Amino acid sequence: MVLLRFAPSPTGALHLGGLRTALYNYLYARKHGGKWILRIEDTDATRAVPGAVDGIREALEWAGLEYDYGPGKDGPHTPYYQSERLDLYHQYAKQLIESGHAYRCFCTPDQLATTRERLARTGSNASYDKVCLNLTEEEVARRVRAGEKSVVRLNDDCLPKRPSPSDLVFGHLRDAHASLPTDPVLLKSDLFPTYHLASVTDDHEMGITHVLRGEEWLPSLPLHLDLYAILKLKPPQFAHLPLLLNLDGTKMSKRNGDVQVMDYKRRGWESGAILNWLALAGWGGTHENTKSGSTSHQHKHAPDSTAVMSLEEMTREFDLTSLTQRRSVLDPSKLEYLNKHHLARTMSQDGGVHALAERVHDKIKAAFPTSQYTSVSHIESVISVVQDRMTNLTDLPKLAPFFFVEPDYTSDEAQSMVKAIKPEDYETVTRSLANRLSAFDRGIQEIDLSSVLHSEYPQLGLKLKQYMTILRHALTASKTGPSVADIMRVLGQERTLSRLQKGAQ
Ligand code: GLU
Repeated sequence: MVLLRFAPSPTGALHLGGLRTALYNYLYARKHGGKWILRIEDTDATRAVPGAVDGIREALEWAGLEYDYGPGKDGPHTPYYQSERLDLYHQYAKQLIESGHAYRCFCTPDQLATTRERLARTGSNASYDKVCLNLTEEEVARRVRAGEKSVVRLNDDCLPKRPSPSDLVFGHLRDAHASLPTDPVLLKSDLFPTYHLASVTDDHEMGITHVLRGEEWLPSLPLHLDLYAILKLKPPQFAHLPLLLNLDGTKMSKRNGDVQVMDYKRRGWESGAILNWLALAGWGGTHENTKSGSTSHQHKHAPDSTAVMSLEEMTREFDLTSLTQRRSVLDPSKLEYLNKHHLARTMSQDGGVHALAERVHDKIKAAFPTSQYTSVSHIESVISVVQDRMTNLTDLPKLAPFFFVEPDYTSDEAQSMVKAIKPEDYETVTRSLANRLSAFDRGIQEIDLSSVLHSEYPQLGLKLKQYMTILRHALTASKTGPSVADIMRVLGQERTLSRLQKGAQ
């Protein structure tokens, strides 16, 4: 069975990049009938932000990415916070020291800085001179007993020779070891592990089969594979996900503020559309190659770059071999496109319009505090007639304010509409329609309003456009909106008549 993990550090809110990683973990686990774990990598106390784990869980829940095991969901491989697994890391560090692959280093930060400067002056690429490697066992024991602070370092002289590391997305990595520091630290002086030791230990101990994580961790892959090799453990398979870019080609991770998942919720985006947007960033379709400006060919098993997919559809389609190495631009206009389609899908489902109306209810009440027309059922009728023009649910108040409050006849838009219309025509049209509609004592919802309108204007000797402009002005004071028949139906008989009568005065 495949077992994956999403392993955020609780250093702040969940960002789009993290959500994409979680999504791919979810998709791969579900597609293969496996499970995924939410593992909290809280080994750097200096960067931990209170409440961050709750925020991450809330964002995953909003997105509908339910993890199988993790905080609040016990199962095998507990605990799920790395800060509660310190004994394990200490055992691994001890094992590595005993086998001669790691050693204690007592150098202070000041000493290390001096060493680095000296090495740089001599033109060396090394970041450490390994001076503590020569300490005798007795000396080390004495300094530990004396309470001197130390870290545990990997001795990179004794790494096994092995072929270049391979990644499911990035393939074989050449010069993979070049970027690694000399004798990387595995256990810090505060007795917490570094990311590398904790990640390898936990991925092995938890039985993780596939590690799907951001491209920023690709440089760590050789070190992780070294650790697996010297511990004689079988590594999981690795797939690194390409960086996400802003429209201008800069890294999304460097942007502040509006990349937080919950900001997208607050701004009214559909969670399904966000997932769809992120799914297409790195998987299938055509992707901008920022270096050459060319675009890649579509993969065989990859969705079209604009495919509208639900989470279930994505799960069915997901295929690790069709992930791309190319950095993906997150284009906001694509989110608008996807959101519109996800909204349309929701509206076509039973109870979908009602659910949307409930979601936007508070926003409507806040936008029109004095209105008596803000019930959920009224909002439902409004949604049903403006849906074609709605990109985001929170557009609703500004799309058709006249359904909630009286039209503003003094606006420039309203005044420009009636400029070319004779006052007597205006009066005839509104009076005539008002008379006709008031005769319907069962309410105007019952009648075919469109036929009424189309039979009226020829009798009055007007062109359709003139006729409709007068009615739009009287009913909404706005040039745009749903059809006049729909507007009347949603306003209802009483409000329609009152606006027509006002217009006729
Ligand atoms: N804790 C790392 C992060 O927050 C995760 C790295 C990994 O998945 O191995 O990015």
